[in-house]
Amino acid sequence: MALREILTEPNKLLREKSLAVEGVDEDLQKLMNDMLETMYAAPGIGLAAIQVGVPKRVIVLDIRWRDKSESTSDEKQVERKNPMCFVNPEIIAKSTNNSIYEEGCLSVPGQFAEIARPDKCHVKYLDYYGQPKEFVAEGMLATCIQHEIDHLEGILFIDYLSKLKKSMIVKKLTKQKEQLDRIVI
Ligand code: ZN
Repeated sequence: MALREILTEPNKLLREKSLAVEGVDEDLQKLMNDMLETMYAAPGIGLAAIQVGVPKRVIVLDIRWRDKSESTSDEKQVERKNPMCFVNPEIIAKSTNNSIYEEGCLSVPGQFAEIARPDKCHVKYLDYYGQPKEFVAEGMLATCIQHEIDHLEGILFIDYLSKLKKSMIVKKLTKQKEQLDRIVI
């Protein structure tokens, strides 16, 4: 396994539409392993392949491992890890009711906003072993899956905000990047 670099906004690759994967092979499993390692190290609870520069329709999630209501010792966190891998995920039905969560994104560091999304979604995908699976996701998992599938379409959560709010965030991130560039030797 290896850590990969997470791309941050603004970056043209994040706006690319990812392509469907033909099947799950060893190389793709290696990508998913790397993505999980990168996500846990970030730390985050979800990551799409395009966020590490790979335009394939692959996402990984683990919505429980950072649950602060339970023990926070590192050992316990390892035990509680429940990684989920989705290849070619597709939402085949959505609830008409919305739920609102404050969302952040590893590609939009330090920025958070309340976003409304359908509170349930029926998702179809291939798992880590290439087996076809489907289930109805609810609550935070439904939000996370929709956020990650948006990445596969080149959509970021800030796209749901007003033009003004979005441009303020992009400006801030651009400035942060310029400051970072200055200390590269
Ligand atoms: Zn994201």
